[in-house]
Amino acid sequence: MSENVDHVEVKDGLESNQDQTDLQAIQNQSDDQTESQWEWNVLVKAAQYGELAPIEASVLKDPQWARHTDQDGISLLHWCAINNRRVIMTFLLEHGAAVNAIGGELRSTPLHWATRQGHLGSVVLLVQYHANMNIWDAEGCAPIHIAAQFGFSAIVAYFIGKGVPVDCRDEHAMTPLMWSAYRCLNSEVSRLLLRLGAQPDLVDARKRNSPLHWASLSENGSVLAILLDQPKPISHLVNQEGKRAFDILQGLHQSAEPRKNPKPSFSKEQLEKLRSTHETTPDRSSYIPIQLGDRNKTWETITTSGLLFSIFPIFGLGLATEVSWPIKAGLLFTIYILTTLVVRKSSPKYLHTIVPIALYLATEFWIYVTWWVVLYPIVPHLMFFAFIMFCGLLWYCFTKTWMSNPGLIVVQGQDRLKSVVELAENGDLGFQNFCTTCLIPKQERSKHCATCNECVLRFDHHCPWVGNCIGQGNHRFFIMYLSLLSILTMMTIVACYLGYQKDQWPTNTWVRAGVLKNWVLMILILSSFHCMWVTLLLSCQLYQIIIMAMTTNERMNWQRYAKRLQPHPGKMSPYDKGVCRNLWNFFMNSSISNSHRLHTV
Ligand SMILES: [Zn+2]
Ligand SMILES: [Zn+2]
Repeated sequence: MSENVDHVEVKDGLESNQDQTDLQAIQNQSDDQTESQWEWNVLVKAAQYGELAPIEASVLKDPQWARHTDQDGISLLHWCAINNRRVIMTFLLEHGAAVNAIGGELRSTPLHWATRQGHLGSVVLLVQYHANMNIWDAEGCAPIHIAAQFGFSAIVAYFIGKGVPVDCRDEHAMTPLMWSAYRCLNSEVSRLLLRLGAQPDLVDARKRNSPLHWASLSENGSVLAILLDQPKPISHLVNQEGKRAFDILQGLHQSAEPRKNPKPSFSKEQLEKLRSTHETTPDRSSYIPIQLGDRNKTWETITTSGLLFSIFPIFGLGLATEVSWPIKAGLLFTIYILTTLVVRKSSPKYLHTIVPIALYLATEFWIYVTWWVVLYPIVPHLMFFAFIMFCGLLWYCFTKTWMSNPGLIVVQGQDRLKSVVELAENGDLGFQNFCTTCLIPKQERSKHCATCNECVLRFDHHCPWVGNCIGQGNHRFFIMYLSLLSILTMMTIVACYLGYQKDQWPTNTWVRAGVLKNWVLMILILSSFHCMWVTLLLSCQLYQIIIMAMTTNERMNWQRYAKRLQPHPGKMSPYDKGVCRNLWNFFMNSSISNSHRLHTV
């Protein structure tokens, strides 16, 4: 019995020993687990907050930590990528971290995480360590699609520069342009993609929506505008449900459901433009809109210019003749109706470009006619010849300002991408020193002109009256042009005044003296008006050039350039070299070929 008991005791003892060992093992294991879990938590925190030391210590002790992932597949590299911890990332990648580890709810790589947060530096680093740029996450998106959705144009440009196709498809055949049209209300990425050759007429696999459909679905007016400006006709494309972009927009307009975008950013004109192209293009492959558009444009130019050229005689002679007031009122009303019609029929953007030039040319034309027909016999001959001479010079300067290169920085498509990659890899790709529309580094004092859609060297302003940018290449011609215009309007005022005083009108014209007198009065008033604003503008310009040594853009946006424009003591700006030197530099050292700042990138 005692044996038995002993045995039992022994057995009991044995059993209890075994249990204890197991328990100990489990305890140790769980301690180990707790310890390793604890260490992992510490490392994750360190990765998030950018502390290299604990990670370095753990990885050097056990290199597995560099590749370790939690139960969701998230690695330390993921945490570093989302927090832009590049020093730790480099360390981890050098110690065997998996650059394409897939983890998290969205089954994403560290490259997806870095892209989602817009960390260009981390993106560059991961790509340099051969991160795969074409892996789809759980939503079927490659990193470039994510960058396009969130509006990170520099990252989009970098991916394309590194060889990702500009129309790279995601799992559902969506292109980056479709994503940016749908998700990104800022048009910068869409503009960039189109500039790099993205096709605006591709459709996705699920709903067969084109980028225009996607922009319409989110009522993305700024992207709609640039898509509608594309030379390729796209507004006639229909999706799987047989709907065009216009149908979608109109449907959203009429629907009572809450809108995705409560403040639609598209204008009535855009809707109208969509509607008109929608109605004129029943055939999907039709190229009618382009032809129609061109014909419309020529028609607009002719009617607008014709109207502006005829306004003066209608107005001047109409008021001058001795017809009854109701007829005069009728004439004025006709002008009003015609103007309204032209304004209604033309696009606002087009009106901004054509009207000022046409108005200027019309004024010039009628001033010349007046000089030739009415003032020539009245004013001293010397004055008339001086007028002719100044006119010649004025036209030379006007043509130079209008037609010459204001300082556009011309770069080929491939060079643009090369410069994007170079800048990104050197860590210099930022909004301060890079134009994301032109994809070129900004030059000192250059600015992107929204009207010309180009970067212009030493940008002053965009002048609608000469239909060109005023920059380093043509600024001096612009100043000479303003000076001559100011002199010529003054001469016209004096000549008109002399004629008015003399009151002896040429008799060989087909209009009567009374009419001529009133006409000259109208030209006098018109010239005084032009003389006033031209002289004012010239004075401002000369003050900026000679005294301040600044451009209009720099003066108006001083706050934005405050750091660069911090003047030296006693100077108005860092470019101020004293009155004479400023003047010399402006006229003698401003041609584009002399610019040491212009270089091909
Ligand atoms: Zn630009
Ligand atoms: Zn411009």
